[in-house]
Amino acid sequence: MAKRGMKKKFQLIIASNNGHKISEIKKIFSALDIDIFGWTDYFLSDLTVDENGLTFEENARKKLENYPSIPSQYKKRYVQLFLSDDSGLEVDTLDGRPGIHSARYAPEGTSVALCTKLLNELKGASNRKANFTAAIALKVPDKPIQIAIGQVFGKIAEDIFTDNGFGYDPVFIPQGYNQTFAQMSPSQKNKLSHRGNALEKLKGPLLQIITSS
Ligand code: IMP
Repeated sequence: MAKRGMKKKFQLIIASNNGHKISEIKKIFSALDIDIFGWTDYFLSDLTVDENGLTFEENARKKLENYPSIPSQYKKRYVQLFLSDDSGLEVDTLDGRPGIHSARYAPEGTSVALCTKLLNELKGASNRKANFTAAIALKVPDKPIQIAIGQVFGKIAEDIFTDNGFGYDPVFIPQGYNQTFAQMSPSQKNKLSHRGNALEKLKGPLLQIITSS
């Protein structure tokens, strides 16, 4: 039983089954006094969501629709916060595709399959401009969901560069750089990325919740 006045512990549960996203989010929020968990590690089952929204924001909200409420015996000791990420790559020449369908753009869904399909579609294209967008949704107790949007602009490389990273990392070169995200260190990618960008906007509100509770 919690003692009167005992400081509550904050748990941030990431509504995602994507280990790459989870490890990036953990790193970006590592300085916050908060325990961070991936959905599967916390609930021991995968998150299932029908991602049929028309925007990144809509899908990020959908991922936060059905989280279980905190069991009453834990309420005195823990504050649970939930966060989701819906993101994707928008390519100018493809009128913004694959966009919200980025994860399913190639049936296999592997990084190599996604990047290979994209490079084939862009064969001979002189305009290779693209951007990543992330919509991050944050739910804290007794407050409506907050949304932060992050973007990074750049171009699609002519080939696949290294198989580090995930998704389209091996073909995306951020503006002002000559390496793909996959060739950068995780901390360098996080400084530039759509996800890093959006999460940075939520650090202030999160700190406020942690320090004022
Ligand atoms: P969703 O948000 O679960 O719909 O999946 C987004 C998809 O976009 C991922 O599966 C990746 O293919 C791609 N994506 C999103 N963010 C990144 C990133 O930081 N690097 C590479 N690919 C990304």
